[in-house]
Amino acid sequence: MTPVWFTLIAAAVFLAMEGVAWASHRWIMHGWGWGWHQSHHEPRTGLFERNDLYAVVGSAVGFGLFLIGYLTKAWPVYAVASGVTLYGLAYAIFHDGLVHQRWPFRWVPKGGYLRRLIQAHRLHHAVMSKGGAVSFGFLIAPDPKALATELKALRAARARQRLP
Ligand SMILES: [Zn+2]
Ligand SMILES: [Zn+2]
Repeated sequence: MTPVWFTLIAAAVFLAMEGVAWASHRWIMHGWGWGWHQSHHEPRTGLFERNDLYAVVGSAVGFGLFLIGYLTKAWPVYAVASGVTLYGLAYAIFHDGLVHQRWPFRWVPKGGYLRRLIQAHRLHHAVMSKGGAVSFGFLIAPDPKALATELKALRAARARQRLP
């Protein structure tokens, strides 16, 4: 194992996870998995929401990968497991912490990329229904203005089709 390769693989997996997160959010969470995700598009009443079960599944996948690495003694599996787990950590910090303020302190960035990330995800939450949402990715945040335009167009199209 070389540290360079380990880091490169972990970083590549971390980046690829943004695509995995986008696809699962778009097609699973806003698809057949809506039953768990719906709670995240409604006001939270307690400390947890049903949607947190996705974080449990994600952690189990990360843990499972580390276990496979341990059993097979294959370092590339550890590198993949590290990339997946680091993405999960970043998601928890930026999505649950920064955007949804589920941490015990309040810190809202006034500008820069983090502000854009928050705005892009807020636009995802502009919709409370399974269909008609925009901005399914997370760490790669598109321009909020473009997202707002997309949302408007989707709303108009859904109104024409008499969808909620
Ligand atoms: Zn969603
Ligand atoms: Zn959210």
